[in-house]
Amino acid sequence: MSINIEPLQKILQLEHKKGYVDSAVIGGLDKFLHNWAGKAQDAVRSPQLQDRFLELHLINSDYASLSVEQRQKWAKKVLSFLTELESIGQKRGEAKPTQVTKRIPRAAKKPKTIPTESIDSPITVIRGISSGLATRFNKLGVSTIRDLLYFFPNRHLDYSQLKSISEISQGEEETIIANVWQAGATRLGGRWGTEAIVGDETGNLRVVWFNNPYLARKLKVNQKLVISGRVSLFGGRHVFESPEWEYLEDKELVHTGRMVPLYPLTQGLRPRQVRKLLKEVIDHYARQLEDYLPQRVKSDCKLLGLPEALSQAHYPDDAEVKDKARVRLAFDELFLLQLGVLSKKRDWQEGQPGTPLNTKTPVLGAFLKSLPFELTSAQKRVLGEILADLEKAKPMSRLLQGEVGSGKTVVAVAALLVAASSGHQGAFMAPTEILAEQHFSHIGDLLSQVGHKEAGEDFLYSYSGFLPRPLSVALLIGDISQARKQELQQSILNGKIDIVIGTHALIQKEVGFYRLGLAVVDEQHRFGVAQRAALRQKGFNPHVLVMTATPIPRTLALTLYGDLDLSVIDELPPGRQVVRTKWLRPKQREAAYAFLHRQVASGRQAFIVCPFVEESEAIQAKAVTTEYKRLSGEVFPDLKLGLLHGRMAAVEKDEVMRRFRAGKLNILVSTPVVEVGIDVPNAAVMLVESADRFGLSQLHQFRGRVGRGKEQSYCMLMAEDPSEVGRQRLDIIENTQDGFILAEKDMEMRGPGEFFGLRQSGLPDLRMAKLSDVAILDLARGQAIKLFEEDPNLEMPEHELLAKELARVWQEGGEWS
Ligand code: ADP
Ligand code: MG
Repeated sequence: MSINIEPLQKILQLEHKKGYVDSAVIGGLDKFLHNWAGKAQDAVRSPQLQDRFLELHLINSDYASLSVEQRQKWAKKVLSFLTELESIGQKRGEAKPTQVTKRIPRAAKKPKTIPTESIDSPITVIRGISSGLATRFNKLGVSTIRDLLYFFPNRHLDYSQLKSISEISQGEEETIIANVWQAGATRLGGRWGTEAIVGDETGNLRVVWFNNPYLARKLKVNQKLVISGRVSLFGGRHVFESPEWEYLEDKELVHTGRMVPLYPLTQGLRPRQVRKLLKEVIDHYARQLEDYLPQRVKSDCKLLGLPEALSQAHYPDDAEVKDKARVRLAFDELFLLQLGVLSKKRDWQEGQPGTPLNTKTPVLGAFLKSLPFELTSAQKRVLGEILADLEKAKPMSRLLQGEVGSGKTVVAVAALLVAASSGHQGAFMAPTEILAEQHFSHIGDLLSQVGHKEAGEDFLYSYSGFLPRPLSVALLIGDISQARKQELQQSILNGKIDIVIGTHALIQKEVGFYRLGLAVVDEQHRFGVAQRAALRQKGFNPHVLVMTATPIPRTLALTLYGDLDLSVIDELPPGRQVVRTKWLRPKQREAAYAFLHRQVASGRQAFIVCPFVEESEAIQAKAVTTEYKRLSGEVFPDLKLGLLHGRMAAVEKDEVMRRFRAGKLNILVSTPVVEVGIDVPNAAVMLVESADRFGLSQLHQFRGRVGRGKEQSYCMLMAEDPSEVGRQRLDIIENTQDGFILAEKDMEMRGPGEFFGLRQSGLPDLRMAKLSDVAILDLARGQAIKLFEEDPNLEMPEHELLAKELARVWQEGGEWS
């Protein structure tokens, strides 16, 4: 039965307004009370509360005979009693008997003082954060108050539904409010812990906390606790084991009775401590954040305000508003990303004029005719797009996407020849030295079809037949001798070298160009925006072609690489075969080794990739070395094995690769360094260890190392004990050859941040945005373009805050300074 509190509240408020003349209710207050108080008293179960009805003269009241002053005093007391009744009633689900699921009401927020510290102050200005605590937060990337506001929980536990003890069920996450009957330290499974017996009007329950005997002292008999946790069964009875708990006080709940956030932690940070702290910080500072989104954008997109979104992202009222909060925050990330990228593109293209190149050169035709194959129609189309850009004074800024083996390099070489024949230099950057060297030799092979290789030495080829003078192509990598390097740098600087191939070394400060006309960057996802920018500054605003084998769904590509135009080679050269892919169970290991033996016997070569993910390069190197020894000693003692890992010196690596490419090694045992671009057509078999621990795109990249020749190729994926997600991935990769589909699935499973290694890329962080957010992505992109067209420099007064935020976010990404 419920107490209907509202009518009496209304009457008393009206009395107050009218000056306590007993005119609020027809027939007078006493008559009303006579009726109301009896029922209400019956509805209250606790004897203490029932007594209060008498104390307050609610039963047998005599309002009519009181003075105005007495009436006023009395009314005040009654009103506060009503509030008390109301909150107890609601906690028990009595005030609103029709409510199906019960919620604990949020206590009214206390009026707060406006904080004076800037939110960019270090967290140590917050009361209760010592420098020791701050150091622990620093480990999690949190150093300012703003960082804390954006320090989002990994997930939430839903403890918002209140149950009575008789209603809870085993195995569920439940929340109860109960009275402590007794509490004490006790032995639990051989160690000291705390045990309490708690109860509500429907029953009693045992609660235990393992390894925490000190808690016993905090739990006071007769105090009310909110307890949230999973219900277990012990001796046939329900029990809470180490649940979250807190006192039921006037304050808002933090650990129980609501959606409770679970934060990432580090050593020395306790969940309760972090939760409590964040609650305070959010309540105190979130309001201080200015909402930089223009009102129009907010209302067009129906977005929450920023302070609200932040506080709901941490301590949501319910799942629905939590999702709205995430939408707002994800929108911001993608919107700011897009705006930044758009303005980079404009700066790049409208800054200095670029260099128009002569694409009508006969060199191009001669080169294409000399190739042992005809370009695919996709290659032709893309080359056309590139040439059209190169002719313009506006510098090209283009992303070329194409599957592994789709023939991007040939297209790039054609463009580099155009630059060289126009009297400009070309640069070609690869993510690793091995790949730079491989490109050097691959490009050498392509050029030698038409040009005559004249002088050949390790780091410099020159070809006659292309240009009136010899065309020189150099390899500039980190491990050539200092003297030779300086010589090469000198030749690059005075224009003697036409095309230079290398790694990051190319954009190091000491490398200057004579007339850099085109820069090609291979395998984009390893090369950040920062590197691209640095490269641009090397020359006379060169054309830039970025190539990637990572297929990126179009919308995402446009957002992440919105500063680039997009070309796609969506076709493989004819005759490419499907790599037969099989997921192997541990018991098939011997069969896999036997298969490798047979393949090598018939002249093929093989990779064994030993990926030990999430571990340091040093640990990986050690593990792969052990595996290499085992394989050479025990499994393939009759074969020649090579070892490749990231800790080897560059010369050693190159030596191993050279021997493998030359067919002198049968099997290459390697860490994931073989992932990108290595091209050995005779390698037809790959065995990937711990395959379940890799993302789909990476597995696809591995697989792309085989199937590059004429022979049927195989990819064997070994997984010892895959998780559910691991199994899903193996299933997908076994049955899917299309890199785009794989990439899309991969991003659904991992989110774009992880997928692209955004952290290294220099773009602002994506914490809330996910790939499955295609709708938000589209929305953010649309809004950014609209705004950029309206006010490209964000000069309008209503965009002032946004301009500030944009600068802050992009500066934090560490770019463009
Ligand atoms: P990727 O796009 O992975 O960089 P590459 O440019 O390395 O691919 O090309 C892979 C292989 O295919 C190379 O050996 C290259 O010479 C060859 N190739 C490129 N284009 C064609 C084509 N149109 N027809 C046949 N083979 C081609
Ligand atoms: Mg390539």
